[in-house]
Amino acid sequence: MDTTTSTSSEQIIEQFQQYVIPNYGRYPVALVRGEGPFVWDAEGNRYLDFFPGWGCNLLGHCPPAVVEAVQDQVAKLIHVPNTWYTEAQGLWAKALSERSFGGQAFFCNSGTEANEAAIKLARLHTPAKQYKIITFSGGFHGRTLGSTTATAQPKYHEGLGPLMAGFAYAPFGDLAAVEALIDDETAAIMVEPIQGEGGVVIPPADFLPGLRKLADDHGLLLIFDEVQTGCGRTGEWFAYQYFNVQPDVITLAKSVCGGIAGAAMLTTAEIAPSLRPGMHAATFGGNPVAARAGIATLETIDRENLLERAKELSRIFQERLGQLAGESDIVEEVRVAGLMIGLQLSVEGGPIVKACMERRLLINCTQGTVLRLLPPMILSDEQAIEGCDLLADVIKNHNHAE
Ligand SMILES: *Cc1c(COP(=O)(O)O)cnc(C)c1O
Repeated sequence: MDTTTSTSSEQIIEQFQQYVIPNYGRYPVALVRGEGPFVWDAEGNRYLDFFPGWGCNLLGHCPPAVVEAVQDQVAKLIHVPNTWYTEAQGLWAKALSERSFGGQAFFCNSGTEANEAAIKLARLHTPAKQYKIITFSGGFHGRTLGSTTATAQPKYHEGLGPLMAGFAYAPFGDLAAVEALIDDETAAIMVEPIQGEGGVVIPPADFLPGLRKLADDHGLLLIFDEVQTGCGRTGEWFAYQYFNVQPDVITLAKSVCGGIAGAAMLTTAEIAPSLRPGMHAATFGGNPVAARAGIATLETIDRENLLERAKELSRIFQERLGQLAGESDIVEEVRVAGLMIGLQLSVEGGPIVKACMERRLLINCTQGTVLRLLPPMILSDEQAIEGCDLLADVIKNHNHAE
């Protein structure tokens, strides 16, 4: 296929109507190329992307170091099963371990798979009668049935029952409710340190330390789902460092390979052996292409000092969007943690996403009324300001039209 295609969006969409299962809501636009903070559609329009790859493209589109590593690797060795050793997988595990709590990695291909691995690990690590996992309302952990059950929101369960046994849900931020749910069959607490799909919800300061204490007091594993918050999104390598609370397990996907499919579960060297040989596997997990992309992603963040850059950019968003909250009566609250940004609106966000798209700015809306931005770390100040000003203009005009 030629990517400099002259095929129109309309022609591309036609194939979907006939051949692709329509389980996604899609914008009526086909994208053909990306570079840094920009993507182009089939008609040649350029968009400034503040939601690149649903959070996967934290380094922007087609980061050069990732492109180069993948191009080099695909010509050497694309895939071998995990019955063999490859240098790239070992180096990737080392690179993740050195930036987190010094543990070991299991590799897979998506966030939901990383969470399934964590669910199995929790059940295997704790005594046989402990199998229950406490998760949180408003959370999101993925679409396989275990992770769907871990996801408390009823809208994700409709028509799928019976779900997996052994999950209990507490309100996010409510330590007393968690404590009340713990019994002698509980194995783990699994939580997003900041809820992403749930609307960029930042927990109260005592919540994550309180979960750590409850887990310690009751012999439970504390699992942080860092699929969205990990790998520099908060301006720290991992959100557990942002909150200074160390979990026993973290799960990573989305941005971990700079836009290539890849995922990992990290745990301590003490807990890791509980995932015994033969108990879990992923055929493509940790394959050389994903591993090289993963290493290139981490090295790029170091080399270009992008954790610091994420913090600087965060301050720009905080300042610009905070100001907007003061000026607009439909923006109720602005929540910012590094480059994870939510604007709580008093109205539906869908029309604002659409109006931004018409002005060539891509953002997202979650939970109906929360505008979500997951901008890349590689924005210039000017690009960050340009996007914020455009969003502000759209919101203010929307405001006046109401
Ligand atoms: C996106 C997401 C997942 C699911 O990841 P997939 O790669 O789509 O399976 C799980 N947990 C969180 C917190 C996420 O944001």
